[in-house]
Amino acid sequence: MTGPVLKFLGDTKLELGPVGETQGNWRSARDGDNVLWLVLDKTDSSVNTISEDVIRELDDHIAAAEADKPAALVIRSAKPAGFAAGADISGFESMTDQGAAALLKQAHDVLDRIEALPWPTICVVHGAALGAGFELALACDYRIATPGASFGFPEVQLGLHPGLGGTFRLPALIDPTDAMTMMLTGKTAHTKRAKSQGIADAIVEERHVAAAVSAARNGKIERQTPGLKSRAFSFDQARSLAARQMRSKTEEKAPKEHYPAPHALIDLWEKHGDDRDAMQQAEIDSFAKLLDTEASKNLRRVFFLQQSLKDAGRGEDGIAHVHVIGAGAMGAEIAAIAAIKGKTVTLGDIETDPLGKAVRTAAKICEAKHLSSTETRDALDRLMPDPHGYGLAHADLVIEAASEEQEVKEKIFKGLKGALKKDAILATNTSSLSVDDLAGAAPAKSRFAGLHYFNPVSKIDLVEVVKGSATNEKTANRLAAFCGATGKLPALVSDYPGFVVNRALVPYMLEAMVLMDEGVSKEVIDTAAIRFGMPMGPVALADQVGLDIGLHVAESLQASLDASMPPISDDLRARVDKGDLGKKTGQGFYDWSDGTPHPDADMNDAPEDLTDRLILPMLNACAEVLRKGVAKDADQVDAALIFATGWAPFRGGPMQYAKTRGISEIKQRLAELEATHGPRFTPDPGWSNLG
Ligand code: NAD
Repeated sequence: MTGPVLKFLGDTKLELGPVGETQGNWRSARDGDNVLWLVLDKTDSSVNTISEDVIRELDDHIAAAEADKPAALVIRSAKPAGFAAGADISGFESMTDQGAAALLKQAHDVLDRIEALPWPTICVVHGAALGAGFELALACDYRIATPGASFGFPEVQLGLHPGLGGTFRLPALIDPTDAMTMMLTGKTAHTKRAKSQGIADAIVEERHVAAAVSAARNGKIERQTPGLKSRAFSFDQARSLAARQMRSKTEEKAPKEHYPAPHALIDLWEKHGDDRDAMQQAEIDSFAKLLDTEASKNLRRVFFLQQSLKDAGRGEDGIAHVHVIGAGAMGAEIAAIAAIKGKTVTLGDIETDPLGKAVRTAAKICEAKHLSSTETRDALDRLMPDPHGYGLAHADLVIEAASEEQEVKEKIFKGLKGALKKDAILATNTSSLSVDDLAGAAPAKSRFAGLHYFNPVSKIDLVEVVKGSATNEKTANRLAAFCGATGKLPALVSDYPGFVVNRALVPYMLEAMVLMDEGVSKEVIDTAAIRFGMPMGPVALADQVGLDIGLHVAESLQASLDASMPPISDDLRARVDKGDLGKKTGQGFYDWSDGTPHPDADMNDAPEDLTDRLILPMLNACAEVLRKGVAKDADQVDAALIFATGWAPFRGGPMQYAKTRGISEIKQRLAELEATHGPRFTPDPGWSNLG
């Protein structure tokens, strides 16, 4: 065979036909041992996804192979990015459930035919094999992984479960409870775990792939055989017992009412776990049904919202060196994340203690992110405590994360005049001060902006990139690209009290305190929010943010907004005065000494309008920021709230929820609440533009 060697096939020396000569997304070749290599190289993307055309073309290749009878079949990817990231979910959007079922049936037939081939079939996996990619790998006799390979079923995050045979092939291959856990949680098995669980038959360095393929072909790699547990679960009673446990565990994290997919999967397994054919048909039907649920539609929407934030973070940031001013709760983590992602970081503070603590924080973050010892060492090498500010003169970006006081920040900025590089950007992490007000003290207004991270920085992906009126486009774009380069999701917003996220959250938290003043217990309030779908209720959230910080932001918003806000409760002020600041001091509204509170109150005596009183003011604030042009559009608002606060993702975000419930109903309900509780519920005029 002639043709170019692919740009990536690891160390496997194989010449494959050019794309035009082969069938679209697959390249094929026979090696000297008459082994057929089918190499997935999706034409329109740097990442492989399993789309309708990929399956159709695979069908043709398998048909040709069935006629030609090679000695073995190897399936692998030509993309450096990995094996395959899953099904192409953009294709789901236009499908009816019958259309989906018919397509799935065709795809199942292709995988069944691969499984039935009389000669060895070997899947070589580098990088991630996710979703339908993993299912393709499961249809082969062997899975050979190279270091760094991973396998997983992230479908639950899209309100789905595996739909291409994963529900019966994985439980038949490995311990069925491990298989179910993987499918129910969406957690990935990395190389070693995949090997120990029996997903991967061998782990080999790239240079040994050809030898491993040859060993597999000659039966010299031992194949995983279903263990005792697999056999035990062929009994209905054993499955029913396990299914009951799975259900109650799943209900805690993903209630059936909000997240039907994992529950549908448990039902499938309980009912058909001993009958492959029945399971196959039931999997197809269930997948097609889930595709049409509101939860899945919204979760797929969230996936696309995330992609759009990622897109906003692409591009060159031109930032190699970051200097962070202030090594407290925020500065320490901002510095650590930037260093982990390869930036040179210098970190200053007026005190020395926070600097030592910051290095320890960075080490902990490396550990939590499972970095290797070399990666940790390199990241810590890049993070330099810099009490004298020597790094300022070399920094491309200076992030100020000092105390939240206008004078402190202004003094810092004035001290930077003449000290920075020519094109350096200065960004403030302020959460409640106006970027425009602070700009006056900055060395260059056009290269000054807000970079609003959320606490804890290492866990919350969203960053609001706040453009002041003088901030130039280049600065905003470089900051967005910096977010992208450091694994964050940038939301480009304008300067406004609370920006987008805090503007929406503050009334939610303050209303909770008004309700407490009225005698409603914090547990009842938080339970209402959790049952709506929030990861945490407003009272626990206030404690987690820190009552002092919450009070400060609330006061600042009250002072600067035209809209009416809930009053700040005396109880909140009293707790702050007493030093009961929430999670960080162990005592706030809740006692945190035993960890995060998980209230689950009896709701019989809850006020009838409780949930609306908490949720609708957030929606109203979103309508306001849209009317004021603070955010680009409703999608951006939804994305910001979901990725900063975990706002009920299965509802697709606050504006999507408003649309689903009906804009006119939201307006009417707000007017009713206004009549009962006062002007803090007055519907924002922006609703009229929204439908
Ligand atoms: P913090 O009190 O934990 O840390 C502030 C640090 O700045 C301290 O270590 C202090 O010694 C140092 N500092 C004070 N004056 C300084 C100066 N002149 N030069 C250098 N260092 C100085 O505060 P934090 O929670 O990390 O907040 C920092 C900034 O981040 C604030 O603007 C805050 O509004 C913002 N923010 C905080 C949160 C949060 O939840 N904590 C969230 C988003 C944004």
